[in-house]
Amino acid sequence: MNKEKLKFLNSNQVREIAQKFQTPVFVYSEKEIENRCNVAKNFPNAFGITVRYAMKANPNAKILQIMHKNGIHIDASSIYEVERALLVGFSAHQILLTSQQPPKPEKLKEIVEKGVQFNACSLYQLELFGKIFPNQEISIRINPGLGSGHTKKTDVGGTNSSFGIWHEYIDKVKELLSKYNLSVIRVHTHIGSGSDPEVWKAVAKHTLEYAEIFPTAQIVNLGGGYKVGRMSDEKTTDFQVIGEPVKKLFQEFEQKYNRKLHLEIEPGTHMLANCGVLISEIVDIVDTGQKGYTFIKLDTGMDANTRPSLYGARHPLIVVPKNRESNGVEKEYVVVGHCCESGDLFTQKMGGDLETRVLDFAEIGDYMVMEGVGAYCAGMSTKNYNSFPETPEILITKEGELKEIRRRQTLAQIIENEIFD
Ligand SMILES: *Cc1c(COP(=O)(O)O)cnc(C)c1O
Repeated sequence: MNKEKLKFLNSNQVREIAQKFQTPVFVYSEKEIENRCNVAKNFPNAFGITVRYAMKANPNAKILQIMHKNGIHIDASSIYEVERALLVGFSAHQILLTSQQPPKPEKLKEIVEKGVQFNACSLYQLELFGKIFPNQEISIRINPGLGSGHTKKTDVGGTNSSFGIWHEYIDKVKELLSKYNLSVIRVHTHIGSGSDPEVWKAVAKHTLEYAEIFPTAQIVNLGGGYKVGRMSDEKTTDFQVIGEPVKKLFQEFEQKYNRKLHLEIEPGTHMLANCGVLISEIVDIVDTGQKGYTFIKLDTGMDANTRPSLYGARHPLIVVPKNRESNGVEKEYVVVGHCCESGDLFTQKMGGDLETRVLDFAEIGDYMVMEGVGAYCAGMSTKNYNSFPETPEILITKEGELKEIRRRQTLAQIIENEIFD
């Protein structure tokens, strides 16, 4: 395995941030985020593109504001995300709600009247919308019958997935459309996170068939799920490579049907994953004897990054010595989190078996930098487990300034909603 390197920080910056803000701490790079915004906006397209940031990847208000400033729109996965996006300055029409949980009718009415777009993800959701807003335009999410994700837990297409309207129920969709006099403006698919580019391309083709079936459709939304290599042996999906053939499909569609379809994509991981790191301190090192392992214990864990325990996900780990130079010696380690849970392992295989990692020789007090934690970490964690406070977030601005964008939680905040004598 190649040795992992720091992606956007250097060792001195790591030491400076750790000393100034204490560990554990998330650090994001505004410059890197803007680069990703530009890559997404340059996704090949025939007749225009809208990029929607899947805000569940990292819903921090400051990060949402960076997206907003860069002309990115929003994919919201709940009513609460819609409200969070509105709060930071997105206008309602920039938000598309694609939610597993059907919104309460009053809420749905309120947000749609404001201008938020609603993507019906089930027949029930479609009917719910039709009852409140007959004679309107609607967007539909279809489960195209095939899916692909990095793991079973992130695959959201095919018979094993409850996401979207099953593709064989198009006739039922049509019945509801005529019952409430609705017209489909957008067809939407999203088949999983970390999906195979080949499967994604096949799904893009299917999605255009749905645009054929619904002649009022003007927008084709191909969702997110674009793979990102966090480890140096993993590949990142190249938008130019996967986008070109899809652009051709849009052109062919136009020639055949004389309709210029607008493209939408909804990357989450691709926008943020490699724009963030988690700096922690090595607080203990133990071993289990000759036939055992050497364990590095960190002052962070699954309460900051749950992905390894949840998916067996791998993140680059880099030892930054606190106050000595690295002497080139390497050693095999198991790296564990601070939660009282054997599954709080940062080096594990899918399924939970322990794995070792060759790292620079480490001492107690050194820093450990975990890369690839910009997406689905700070916003998706077993927060407050073992009563550890929520980890603060720092942004390195384009001007090189270190800005706190989320404070470390206090004990009072952890228990603020508890009622006791
Ligand atoms: C989660 C999600 C995305 C983003 O997925 P990534 O793997 O982060 O790119 C896009 N669209 C929808 C509907 C989602 O639920």
